[in-house]
Amino acid sequence: MSLPQFRILQPLTLDEACRMLDEHGSESMIIAGGTDVIPNLQMRLFAPRVLIDIKPLRELAKIELSRDGLRIGAAATLTHALETPWLGEKFPVLSSAISTIAGPLQRNMGTIGGNLCLETRCRWYNQSKFWRQSLGGCLKKDGDICHVAPGGKFCWAAWSGDSAPAFLALGAEVEIASAAGTRRIPLEKFYKNDGKDRIALARNEILTAVHVTASMSGRRGVYHKLRVRDSIDYPLAGVAVAMDVDSTGVCRDARVALSAVNPAPMLVRAAAESLIGKKWSRELAEEIAHVAIRTGKPLTTSGSTPVYRRDMVRVFTRRALEEVWNSAQQSS
Ligand SMILES: Cc1cc2nc3c(=O)[nH]c(=O)nc-3n(C[C@H](O)[C@H](O)[C@H](O)COP(=O)(O)OP(=O)(O)OC[C@H]3O[C@@H](n4cnc5c(N)ncnc54)[C@H](O)[C@@H]3O)c2cc1C
Repeated sequence: MSLPQFRILQPLTLDEACRMLDEHGSESMIIAGGTDVIPNLQMRLFAPRVLIDIKPLRELAKIELSRDGLRIGAAATLTHALETPWLGEKFPVLSSAISTIAGPLQRNMGTIGGNLCLETRCRWYNQSKFWRQSLGGCLKKDGDICHVAPGGKFCWAAWSGDSAPAFLALGAEVEIASAAGTRRIPLEKFYKNDGKDRIALARNEILTAVHVTASMSGRRGVYHKLRVRDSIDYPLAGVAVAMDVDSTGVCRDARVALSAVNPAPMLVRAAAESLIGKKWSRELAEEIAHVAIRTGKPLTTSGSTPVYRRDMVRVFTRRALEEVWNSAQQSS
């Protein structure tokens, strides 16, 4: 499929990028690695006149660890994150999740910021213009019918990124810049759980970095993912667990987050309350797995059935908890 016509602007600094966004407004769009933007342009899901290329901005590409914690610049590539050895040692849930994103080629191009700002996905939306038009479009694009929940006025397109649940499990915050200055908000508040209006980012804002506090360093964690092709595919369900387990095997703190089963990545809130102060047991893991099922609401946004995806959330939550607890046991 051919690309629509557009101009590419390459700012030399973040300030210049912000000015360009202000100047071109709704006619413009940010491009980083382009691994999501380009296929979407080919499918005519949007047609901005101007693409503002932030990938070459070195100030956005650093991955740093300081006394305050971890800071990953939005333009750092997924491969850069995976090839930063201490990242996997100190924040294993992150490397576990990032290693499952797409394939090596997309990870070489794709960025952390692009992954956190990904478009939501739906089988009725991620199709060619010809395909979509034959059905009269959908709520997210070209039409006013939701094929997932007919009669509804809410877009259920699913959040289909893998790093967001891992960052949520680490209580991350995002840094956002515009010509007016910078702000920082919890990642949890960044997602709106609306398939059409997915993130709390104004047209003239750029995600510049993601932060994880130092207290999360060393937390055990893992990410489990359901996908059609293991070698390269978006998630159909994903579960991230990050946990602090003491030397006696007692959970001191825990966070469980889901991906691909709602229009936003989501924390399983009640999981932490049930886990803190407890030792591993199969019954406890099963209980948390059922709590996770209540947070995930998969619908027919993909080829896989909602029932199967829900069930995999249960299985993955149980497996992830077992794996994290076992790793604590082995090292104590
Ligand atoms: C075949 C294939 C398989 C894939 N599989 C997966 C997968 O398994 N898991 C997964 O999570 N993703 C997957 N992806 C999507 C993609 O490769 C990754 O999510 C990647 O991290 C996106 O980053 P990018 O820099 O290429 O984003 P881009 O395509 O450049 O941008 C994505 C979106 O984010 C916005 N954006 C980018 N950077 C910023 C910023 N700093 N501030 C504000 N907005 C910004 C863009 O405007 C756009 O809306 C796949 C893609 C392909 C083509």
